Amino acid sequence: MWSLLPWLARHRKYSYDGGILITPPIFPMPIPLLMPVVVLLMLFLPVAATADWYKQEQAIMGTRIVVEFWDEDKVHAEQCAEQVFNEMRRIDALMSPYKPNSELSRINQQAAGQAIQISEELFNLLEKALQMSQLSNGAFDITFSSVGHLYNYREGIKPSEADIQQSLAAINFRHVLLNKTNRSVHFARSGVRIDLGGIAKGYAVDNGIAILAKCGIKGGLVSAGGDSRILGDRGNRPWMMGVRHPRKKDAVAVTLPLSNTAISTSGDYERFFIEDGKRYHHIISPSTGKSVSTTWSATVIGPDATTTDALSTTLFVLGPEKGLQLVESLEGIDAVIIDAQGQMHYSSGLMPPTPEPAPAGPEIR
Ligand code: ADP
Ligand code: MG
Repeated sequence: MWSLLPWLARHRKYSYDGGILITPPIFPMPIPLLMPVVVLLMLFLPVAATADWYKQEQAIMGTRIVVEFWDEDKVHAEQCAEQVFNEMRRIDALMSPYKPNSELSRINQQAAGQAIQISEELFNLLEKALQMSQLSNGAFDITFSSVGHLYNYREGIKPSEADIQQSLAAINFRHVLLNKTNRSVHFARSGVRIDLGGIAKGYAVDNGIAILAKCGIKGGLVSAGGDSRILGDRGNRPWMMGVRHPRKKDAVAVTLPLSNTAISTSGDYERFFIEDGKRYHHIISPSTGKSVSTTWSATVIGPDATTTDALSTTLFVLGPEKGLQLVESLEGIDAVIIDAQGQMHYSSGLMPPTPEPAPAGPEIR
């Protein structure tokens, strides 16, 4: 079913040498022959480990946050990484729908009754989310949560058909009324809920990268689950960013050499449960209130992680055809979409090289 043959493709904009898109490495060597290679690699490992690449991980915002960068001063590196983690915790406290005291929860509790004033930071992100809704004709819609909050993937809970139908009309980004003059938000009707799960992690990653840049870091990476951004490169080489295979555990579907860019993947394997052979997962079609079933994963490459995060969720909902149509209309954005048959679809910036025309002459067998 997995249709990608091992080939190299051009990746125009992001690579260090004109750009390549690389499939997972194939090891034609039998395991016994591979052993000396493994031993050799292990001999070199301690050298890599003592180099000044500093890496820290923490669990924040319900996901794994990774901060990795080059710094010659370990104490300075620790301080900078801690600043990034603190920023993630701050954003989580502000925007988590699970924390009853977050500013987002306050909006969900109060904004249906009246216009309420909110922080400039949240206002700006809501504005950006609504722009993405306009751009995608409502495929990206933070009011998905009006139905979405009825799912609990960890506990295998889903709403009944009647529950979905009752709340479905509350899903519509046009119900979220922003007023710039007094920086307020008002929901046009009751039952509307918003959730920034499709954009907030990318925003947090962007802020993390800004902190590293301010720290004087020239080469580094910040990632939050499926959202990453790369500052500079990895010591005169690109970062090799693997896109997870959506149906094979620990396998990579495709590897992208990237520098100075952001990359986000939305997949139906992140939060899900399966009931009666059907997959219920966390990316919801705003028109049905149900999990989208046309896509396994959508990966977006672009200049900043707020954009790539929102766009990866958007493309997941739109599916390969409409999704790539949207990508082609946007400057500086590329995408890889894996559909529900396991087929990979690429934007034109990632196209495989056109095959050489067959040489003239008689065919031989
Ligand atoms: P994650 O990294 O958590 O997998 P994604 O970028 O894939 O995040 O986005 C999934 C999240 O986006 C969901 O957990 C939910 O909070 C939110 N979401 C789900 N459906 C939509 C939608 N149609 N529009 C906007 N946000 C959505
Ligand atoms: Mg996203």
